[in-house]
Amino acid sequence: MTQNIRFNVDGDGVAVLLLDVADKPMNVVTPGLEKDLGECIDRVTSDDAIRGAVIGSAKSSFMAGADIKGMVDSYDRGVTAAEAAELSLHVNKLFRRLETCGKPFAAAINGVALGGGFELALACHYRVMADDPKARVGLPEVTIGLLPGAGGTQRVPRLIGVAEAARFISQGKPLGARQALEKGLVHELAPAEQILERARQWVLKGGEGVQPWDNKGFRIPGGGGQSTPKAFQTFMGATALTAQATMRNYPAPLAILSCIYEGTQLPIDKALSVESKYFGKLLAGPVARNLMRTMFVNKGLADKLSRRPAGPEKTKVGKLGILGAGMMGAGIAYASAKVGIDVVMLDTSLEAAEKGKSYSQMLLGKQVERGRISQQDAEAVLGRIQTTTRYDDLAGCDLVVEAVFENRQIKADVTARTEAVIPKSAVFASNTSTLPITGLAKNSKRPAQFIGIHFFSPVDKMPLVEIIVGKKTSDETLARALDYVGQLRKTPIVVNDSRGFYTSRCFGTFTREGMAMLEEGVDPALIENAAKMAGMPVGPLAVSDEVTMDLQWKVTKQTEEDLGRRFDKPAGYDVIQRFVEELNRPGRRFGAGFYDYPEGGKKHLWPGLSEVYPLAHEQPSADEVIKRLMYIQALEAARCMEEGVVTTAAEADLGSILGWGFPAWAGGTLSYIDTIGIGEFVAECNRMARRHGKRFKPSRWLKQRADRKESFYPAPEKDAAA
Ligand code: NAD
Repeated sequence: MTQNIRFNVDGDGVAVLLLDVADKPMNVVTPGLEKDLGECIDRVTSDDAIRGAVIGSAKSSFMAGADIKGMVDSYDRGVTAAEAAELSLHVNKLFRRLETCGKPFAAAINGVALGGGFELALACHYRVMADDPKARVGLPEVTIGLLPGAGGTQRVPRLIGVAEAARFISQGKPLGARQALEKGLVHELAPAEQILERARQWVLKGGEGVQPWDNKGFRIPGGGGQSTPKAFQTFMGATALTAQATMRNYPAPLAILSCIYEGTQLPIDKALSVESKYFGKLLAGPVARNLMRTMFVNKGLADKLSRRPAGPEKTKVGKLGILGAGMMGAGIAYASAKVGIDVVMLDTSLEAAEKGKSYSQMLLGKQVERGRISQQDAEAVLGRIQTTTRYDDLAGCDLVVEAVFENRQIKADVTARTEAVIPKSAVFASNTSTLPITGLAKNSKRPAQFIGIHFFSPVDKMPLVEIIVGKKTSDETLARALDYVGQLRKTPIVVNDSRGFYTSRCFGTFTREGMAMLEEGVDPALIENAAKMAGMPVGPLAVSDEVTMDLQWKVTKQTEEDLGRRFDKPAGYDVIQRFVEELNRPGRRFGAGFYDYPEGGKKHLWPGLSEVYPLAHEQPSADEVIKRLMYIQALEAARCMEEGVVTTAAEADLGSILGWGFPAWAGGTLSYIDTIGIGEFVAECNRMARRHGKRFKPSRWLKQRADRKESFYPAPEKDAAA
């Protein structure tokens, strides 16, 4: 009996190893487990009374893979590529000991076997998998910027061939039991309660303790290496496609291909050390760290509502009021009803309110069609949305979300009318995208219960919610707003009040920088493509068309009116004005913007652009355009930190990726600065300020941080000590 594996030998001489990693809800590869597995392998090997072994799990799943937090911590300790490769090689040698110990090992896979968990199963000579919809096998390391570093890149192609293996590992998608069997990744399926016995039977019936690749004359199925034309073509095509799809921002998919290509031409032991070398480079590199830290560790914390004040008791919204059944109100109604909340949606006419409800009907209809939800469940969701024009129907609401026109007067009016009927304890939230919350709260009789809950469009798809705390918002109100976001299973960030809050404010710099370049005569195709090369989902001109210049113009004018003499014309001001007032091309919804939208055809950049903004004789490099587009967003995020609009780097990063599509490889806006190095970032901003305008000028606060070499996340310990 070890601490992490329950070890027993049955009367037939079969050792049964049940994985049960201490103090973890799921089995994950830990140093303790590695040590215990080593001891178990030694016992199986040395005890003549043991004929073979079965590895199963004492938990509800086989094994989830590696401990991501542990890997991020190793980065924070300053792990080098060589040290990281050594970590992988250690596991590779351990699993190799298992498969060459001379005795047969069978894996009994219950639940999920992912990453290192599946790699352990692959090192076993036989795999029985539970024929259960919850059971999955997969190597999803690519999604966290890594490659399977415990033999996955070498055993899978030796089982199923290089082309299938390349697809399976570089897509990272887990497979269900039937698919795994069809692909040849497991040998047998059985009802969950029988898998251990079936695995045991395989050992008893004389299952062989030798892997195919350890047999003399073994060949990769379908062939591998340079001399097999099919394999060679697979690598040529896949490398080009992968480079295009990732724009070379993500090193893992290409490293996976290299690993399979090189490794399948070598004997297995050498191949495993090639894998470890590539793994080491990825784990010590910035992209894997950025992805894991923001998208797993910090997202996990935000999802657990880490920003919720501890004092107030946990709450649940039973009845929700929504004011305005337009695009946002309709989406919020759907997202809320879907998780069981009763919704009352109010608009100025019943027709408008019903139109908002029909959005849910449309979404639910599609899901019924695709078999994702039953007709009965769809009807139940729809039945939870009540439409109305009468404020009295809002009585009894725990929370009201206001999503009427972006107009102060209308918002003031609906706030007063709502507060007259809702319980005194209810929270009133505005979904405004631009108007400062503290100002809107002046129209409320209960400003402590007034808060911003900023959803993103389309609400049913967008995972982020930005919560804005006004000057008078109480801790209890914040806690209740976060509880509601938790109910919706969305990811919250909490920010302080500011014009445009955090997300709209930073995102606006991206679109406006694109327009500023257009105005300077930079080729619009270069602007759009450079943004995509950096990893933004769409170019600044295309996304401006989506948001509409019309809306951007309204927001700009409102800001101008509010700030009066303090208003500073932002980049792109004249372009927006021209497209709205002069050219009548206010965006996609209106059929024309920076792009043309021919009916039934594909959108394309408006040919007239070059007449309005003639191309400059000299064009900048793609690198310079990328820098302008990326730095301006990151710089604004840093300003938001300086002003206390965002208060943690984790939230600034999460908000940027989930809110407006800042590239995940960079880990978010502030991780991007850290990845470049704050000193170099500030120096480049200074250069760009001289060249392109004062909007690039770093503040004194940022310069001082750079002088002190103070990054947004703690520097790796080794660097800090140096
Ligand atoms: P919309 O124009 O699609 O819908 C507004 C709805 O409010 C309309 O149905 C209108 O009839 C209704 N309305 C107007 N006055 C009303 C009143 N006095 N009482 C009740 N209903 C009234 O607008 P939208 O895009 O849904 O935006 C709504 C709010 O959400 C705005 O504050 C906007 O800034 C904010 N927002 C919009 C987005 C976006 O992408 N569109 C994103 C986040 C936040």
